Amino acid sequence: MSDIIRLLPDHIANQIAAGEVIQRPASAVKELLENAVDAGATDIRLIIQDAGKQLVQVVDNGSGMSETDVRMAFERHATSKISKIEDLFSIRTMGFRGEALASIAAVSQVEVRTRREPDAAGTFLEIENSRVIRQEPAAAPTGTSISMKNLFFNIPARRNFLKSNAAEMRHIIDEFVHVALAYPELFFSLTSNGQQQYHLEKGTLKQRIVQLMGTSYQTKLVSVSEETDYMNIYGFIGKPETAKKTRGDQYFFVNRRFIRSPYLHHAIASAFQELLPPDTYPAYVLFIDLDPAQVDINVHPTKQEIKFEDEKIIYAFVQAAVRHALAQFSITPTLDFDLDPRIQQLDAVNKPFTDVEKQQASASTLYKTFTEKNTAHRIDPSAASGLRHWKDVLEAGQAESSTEQAAFFLTETPSFEDKKDSSEIDPGSCLQVSLTYILYASPKGVFLIHQQRAHEKILLERYQSALEGKSVPSQTCLFPVNLQLNTQDAILISELLSELQLLGYHLEAFGKDSFVIRGIPADTVQGHERSDLELLLEQYKHFSPALKLDRRERLVRSHARQRSIKAGQKLNAAEMQQLVTDLFQCTQPASGNAGQAVYILLDDTALLRLLDR
Ligand code: ADP
Ligand code: MG
Repeated sequence: MSDIIRLLPDHIANQIAAGEVIQRPASAVKELLENAVDAGATDIRLIIQDAGKQLVQVVDNGSGMSETDVRMAFERHATSKISKIEDLFSIRTMGFRGEALASIAAVSQVEVRTRREPDAAGTFLEIENSRVIRQEPAAAPTGTSISMKNLFFNIPARRNFLKSNAAEMRHIIDEFVHVALAYPELFFSLTSNGQQQYHLEKGTLKQRIVQLMGTSYQTKLVSVSEETDYMNIYGFIGKPETAKKTRGDQYFFVNRRFIRSPYLHHAIASAFQELLPPDTYPAYVLFIDLDPAQVDINVHPTKQEIKFEDEKIIYAFVQAAVRHALAQFSITPTLDFDLDPRIQQLDAVNKPFTDVEKQQASASTLYKTFTEKNTAHRIDPSAASGLRHWKDVLEAGQAESSTEQAAFFLTETPSFEDKKDSSEIDPGSCLQVSLTYILYASPKGVFLIHQQRAHEKILLERYQSALEGKSVPSQTCLFPVNLQLNTQDAILISELLSELQLLGYHLEAFGKDSFVIRGIPADTVQGHERSDLELLLEQYKHFSPALKLDRRERLVRSHARQRSIKAGQKLNAAEMQQLVTDLFQCTQPASGNAGQAVYILLDDTALLRLLDR
């Protein structure tokens, strides 16, 4: 028998290795922006076509590359940033692995134009499938422009795997925002399909935050700044009143590298403690700088997770710094003026967080739906319509008998009788169990209904038919409410405006990243417009991408989830009755929005069997 092991050809090995670094257009955005920063550029322009699927281009005015270097740069493990292993422990640049350009070249068509300041001519280079197909001297401004075209043109399977343009664009903007926040002293712009989306003049960190996160932050940032021998922390936190129900304005950087760390997020959120209404996220843009030897940024290829030498110290330090900053502005605002002159401009310094403000903030709890006035819940008064789906209910119940939990409960389908069944919807026959289940006794048997799943189901069907044209009744806001978002969320909302309208939310674009809420669903309580929408947005953003649902379906499901009665909520008799009636009007009452059982039915036979076991 012959031997079977072969060495992979270079271009295949490159493609496989590239997969770790370049997963989507946004990965290239991150790498190219970081390279521009490392090259000392002060002006960095990102140009996108077709959400990066056609083009990701970064133009910088940095050091540029020599004719030889630019060729070398695309070789795997080619880097100018480290030369020996010890360098890894003192790395101050964003890149160091020498993998990014090689990876990009393995999975796209690349064009580079670059010139160093003293050189008379620059270089133009074209690469495809990791191979240089053209290199020639060319006129070029000082700096580098790298274009990545047709990502994954040579790996159709991966190209097909890319998400919708909206989704890919969101990833791109995330990466752009991270780098732009980390380097406020540099100019950045982002142009997508010919439209400039960001134009960020150089400035202070505070100015950059306001540029990116919205002018509403102008007077609502509190400076954090502490220095120790071990590490420094600096940046801003939003005043408690800026806390939102939606995540998105939380940024943490270690040595100017954006990282995701639920652990450190917890440190920050816990420092806010009672100052925040429940389920809200404080805004923050915080930087810690420490000796590179104390962190291992090398643990994840996309470098968003890091390992600290001593996590607990960092946790305590971050928490203390945020506490200190909060204390400064709310209790002893005049003490530490010399700490940071910027803090003197802050409204917070002059106006401590009052009890009234605190109260206002915490009053924004979840809406109270399901009240008597709740017109959207009213059912068609004709008795027949109330019973429309009894048969389905019973059949569905039977179908469910094949699922594990319900399997032994059901024997035969109770037959569907005539209209005298309307007496079955009879107030008083409901009982709430463990604040989560409704025990509903009917002549057919006992239904054990999961209240949250049931309500989610009801709302989902209602919202689905809303999007089909039977729009949900809306009420005009007494006072139109301004909704200021960050750009990512603003883009998201703009894509959903017409659907939101059908769901009863009337929003109008109003200046950059800002909307006016003019109308809300008739069954919502006024005064919570902003937090309701933020919560909806939050729910929408965190909908599992594993479920391949389109935008509309995601929206209605998020909305149903957000607006539903929750497990643990006490219901009175009328509310339970309404829920039961509404549930059995659904076209598919038995299976929940995520496929789980909404209820089980214990009929006579099942009950007897349970008792006689
Ligand atoms: P790394 O950044 O880890 O060194 P890359 O593959 O991203 O690896 O880049 C390889 C090398 O190419 C860099 O070390 C740098 O010398 C050079 N380079 C890349 N981008 C630029 C740029 N925009 N301007 C100047 N030099 C660059
Ligand atoms: Mg790099």
